[in-house]
Amino acid sequence: MDANRYVINPETGWQIRVGGVRFYQLIDERYDYFNGELVRRANAPPPRPRQYYFNTITHRRVTAGGRRYYELLNAGWDIENDYYLVPPPEVISGNPLPTHERIMAIHGEKLANLNITLCRECFIAINLEQGEYCDECIPLEPEIKKCN
Ligand SMILES: [Zn+2]
Repeated sequence: MDANRYVINPETGWQIRVGGVRFYQLIDERYDYFNGELVRRANAPPPRPRQYYFNTITHRRVTAGGRRYYELLNAGWDIENDYYLVPPPEVISGNPLPTHERIMAIHGEKLANLNITLCRECFIAINLEQGEYCDECIPLEPEIKKCN
């Protein structure tokens, strides 16, 4: 097989190397390599729906269909490659949003007296013993965005 041939991974839209690790994973799971394209096998199980998306600003997980997810979409955020939540331009270039640090500097002590704090991601009130994040905002490493 030609080592320098590439094919589009239909699941991500990115190029992968024919004969590479990811290529064989796809072949193994649910695709046939046919006429230079990856073609989904008819008997393959349906793709797993997204459980979460990746916030490109905070690098946190955002639960699909969750409260934060709809907040971001309503605020004009976009989804790229079915995974990356990308803010509208004014969020990047405009006034900075209040940061967790700024809010906690003002209200942190009062909140601590009530035995609560704010989730670092979505600022919802959570119990102090819950840690820094609410259940919907679990820290996550970004998926590695490159060919195999
Ligand atoms: Zn949260």
